[in-house]
Amino acid sequence: MAKTYDILVIGAGPGGHAAAVHAAQAGAQVAIIEKNGWGGTCTHRGCIPTKALLACSRRYAELKKLGRMGVRVADPSFDYAAMKRHQEQIVKISAMGVQKSLKESGVEMKSGEGRILSPSEVEWTAPDGRRERLSARNLVIAGGSEPALPPGVHPSERILTSDGLLSLRTLPESLLIVGGSVIGVEFATLFAELGVRVTLIEMVGQILPDEEGEAAALLTQELKKLGVAVHTGMRMETIRETGSGVQLLAVPDAPGVETRQAQDPPGAHPPGKGDENPHGIRPAGTLDLSADYALICTGRKPRFSAEELNALGIHHNRRGVTVDERQMTNVSGIFAVGDVTGGMMLAHRAMQQGKGLAARLCGGREIRCPEEAVPSVVYTHPQIARVGLTEEDALRRGIAVEVHRADFAANLTARTSLLGPGFVKLLFDRDRLVGATIAGDQAGELIASLSLAMAAGLDRRQLEEWIIPHPTLSEVLGL
Ligand SMILES: Cc1cc2nc3c(=O)[nH]c(=O)nc-3n(C[C@H](O)[C@H](O)[C@H](O)COP(=O)(O)OP(=O)(O)OC[C@H]3O[C@@H](n4cnc5c(N)ncnc54)[C@H](O)[C@@H]3O)c2cc1C
Repeated sequence: MAKTYDILVIGAGPGGHAAAVHAAQAGAQVAIIEKNGWGGTCTHRGCIPTKALLACSRRYAELKKLGRMGVRVADPSFDYAAMKRHQEQIVKISAMGVQKSLKESGVEMKSGEGRILSPSEVEWTAPDGRRERLSARNLVIAGGSEPALPPGVHPSERILTSDGLLSLRTLPESLLIVGGSVIGVEFATLFAELGVRVTLIEMVGQILPDEEGEAAALLTQELKKLGVAVHTGMRMETIRETGSGVQLLAVPDAPGVETRQAQDPPGAHPPGKGDENPHGIRPAGTLDLSADYALICTGRKPRFSAEELNALGIHHNRRGVTVDERQMTNVSGIFAVGDVTGGMMLAHRAMQQGKGLAARLCGGREIRCPEEAVPSVVYTHPQIARVGLTEEDALRRGIAVEVHRADFAANLTARTSLLGPGFVKLLFDRDRLVGATIAGDQAGELIASLSLAMAAGLDRRQLEEWIIPHPTLSEVLGL
């Protein structure tokens, strides 16, 4: 008789991987199906390749600062092909690590596609086309997410999503980035540090719309220093390939919106005769931009087949598969974790959800994933990291927060190492820490302790008792 697994996971990104490994380690019989690459978006097209390249561009950019410290490097240069090899090597190591941990935990790994037939049955199609029905007591949907493009925009040779841009073998001379959220500003940093002429347009009034206005302003200023032309309050109207590049028209997002421009962007010219426009009329402030390539990063959407979910009666909407706080869908025995459930699309959130689900299914101790304690990091230079509320969020919710603010300029480690500008902002609601933003070098490392503080519900008095080594950058967190 065919084997029945305790848990069958579809998708081996951070969410599915964590669920499978933790469940197998707790003694469950587990199988996992992956159709693309072990490690998912994070390993192949997300966190890992982008951070490998950003590590390269940062080192290169930093060489220019060393002169102030008395270190002289003659004529620094870089080799993009070697940077790409570094990226590929790190991706390989990450994918191998995922496979090794699955194997060592005793998870059955099945390459190919999974399709749910019933709450206890999945059809597995192997890469050679062979099909098999697999039975399980519990199913976990962990299909992740994919780029969401504006209506009418399709990826092409020069109009790329983050997947396409990461596959480019050579460095473009110029790049237009549509969307100033996390992915957009990370790529802007990377390419500008390597000397590419970058223009970024963002529809709302600030880049990183979900972050503290002050953090977004600091990053805007640093991107401008790198030569990035940042245009906020601008909406892409049309985009087309021109053969040797791309051409984009952007218009102010709403009448009366003043467009904030860093400088005239590369390729920008005032609207004139012969410019294409379906109506022949252009609103004031229209930007006509051109570049070698365009990166469209206007968001991501959950990856699932609505037809498959509808056939099973699994509730879902455009934001994702609907789950409760235990990652349960409305259909008994079917669960979902990670990006496919919508919300904050972050690898560590997906992992925590997977780990918590495994513990629950295997009768282990409750492991929660409190949304308010999920940190987020923007890996720009400087980095922007946050946990919990921003001051703007608090205002919107009518919470009168008390703000504690500290500047990197007052921290000796930041000064000695020429870490550049930065600040920490802690928000307290009746002495309870409800939010923290760090803008500056190593913000991603620093936020980890504050997310622990949030998860543990620490208050101001407990944070005052926190003893931080001297001299360190962490002292910037001290009250
Ligand atoms: C450019 C970029 C940079 C990013 N940087 C960061 C970062 O620095 N930090 C961070 O926390 N997050 C980052 N993210 C987001 C992060 O990659 C995702 O949040 C994370 O990968 C989600 O994990 P997941 O397990 O939900 O899904 P995914 O990683 O998307 O994995 C889902 C897997 O399921 C597989 N799959 C789907 N359907 C099926 C099927 N029917 N059968 C078999 N297999 C299937 C897919 O092939 C895929 O491998 C970044 C994303 C991008 C695009």
